[in-house]
Amino acid sequence: MTAPEVEALYQQYVLPTYRQVPLCLVKGKGARVWDIHGREYLDFFPGWAVSGLGHCHPDVIHALKHQAGKIMHVSNNFLSVPQARLAETIVRHAFPGKMFFCNSGAEANEAAIKYARRFGQPEGRFEMITMTGSFHGRTLAALSATGQDKLQEGFGPPVEGFRYAHLNDPDSVKKLVNERTVAILVEPVQGEGGIRVAKAEFLKELRALADERNLLLIFDEVQTGMGRTGTMFAFQQLGVTPDLMTLAKSLGNGVPIGALLVAERHAGLLGPGTHGSTFGGSPLVASAALAVFKAIRKHKLLARAQAMGRLLRNGLETLKEKCPNLVKEVRGLGLMLGAELRVPGAPVADRCRENGLLINCTQECVLRIMPPLVVTTRQIEKALSILDGSLEGIAR
Ligand SMILES: *Cc1c(COP(=O)(O)O)cnc(C)c1O
Repeated sequence: MTAPEVEALYQQYVLPTYRQVPLCLVKGKGARVWDIHGREYLDFFPGWAVSGLGHCHPDVIHALKHQAGKIMHVSNNFLSVPQARLAETIVRHAFPGKMFFCNSGAEANEAAIKYARRFGQPEGRFEMITMTGSFHGRTLAALSATGQDKLQEGFGPPVEGFRYAHLNDPDSVKKLVNERTVAILVEPVQGEGGIRVAKAEFLKELRALADERNLLLIFDEVQTGMGRTGTMFAFQQLGVTPDLMTLAKSLGNGVPIGALLVAERHAGLLGPGTHGSTFGGSPLVASAALAVFKAIRKHKLLARAQAMGRLLRNGLETLKEKCPNLVKEVRGLGLMLGAELRVPGAPVADRCRENGLLINCTQECVLRIMPPLVVTTRQIEKALSILDGSLEGIAR
């Protein structure tokens, strides 16, 4: 099949809900991908931050092949070894509690929202405070939790009970707390919102507020989880432990899996029949996620994310010093980095792609750069040089 033939099928048969570039990817390995013409690219935003260990990680392939030949799916009315072991593994890496498994980030947040409503039900509390610029998914409740008008527009009415405060502004949160408030939902680093890092001080105030008013503090670690920021979960370097945490994206390194962790002291609220997911936590996807945890440990990928993150960040800072009229600010944690430009970012990302580097642009002018944890020094140097050249092309 040729690229135009593929494009023609999309045009005829796939709803155009995504802004797509006509680049048909057929193969990937680590931080590299190849298109249908055999052209190689450095992938510094693999699968929208899904392939955290890089494309086709051998340990994940091995686990999937092995499990696929044994049993792929069992209903959640039965037990499976991989789900049991994955639940234990996540809890041991995060905090004492219990897991619910689903298939995506939006679903994980839906589960958290339902959990919070159940928590508040005895007193009739149901309002949740979320942040402007946040992103929690596209299903109706997750979308209503998402503090971005442009994403909600045209799909009203929203699900009731979401109020929006501002990241790193504790007073804006406190102002919204009333007798109906049940939870606060926040991303430790806003990804879609433009790589905006929550300050440790802010999260500490939220923790204190939640404790004082008996609210659930929920961290959406769908994008920040699994070593992306240099610790297994971002909360671990921000010094605040949430009551609920949601995961998805790179948890399965390419297979669809989402998860909700509920802290032990709150874990008694949902009994049989109250929530569910047909595919959630199947042996196949759970075995992939187990392989991800093992690989992070075996290959010391947390230390690697920190070291490579520093290297990439320094390189971006150097670019900022070189082109202060183009680059306004560099920010992020670990290998979750953003460069806010003073000009629209999409043309820069386009130029990078033409020059063999895939990155993302969000919020009009923020270049989002999230290479896989296995990225090498040489790949980072090459990416920086492509970005440098692409910025120069824009400046001219
Ligand atoms: C991507 C994302 C989601 C939604 O995940 P889906 O798997 O697309 O439903 C939710 N929260 C955050 C922080 C995300 O980055």
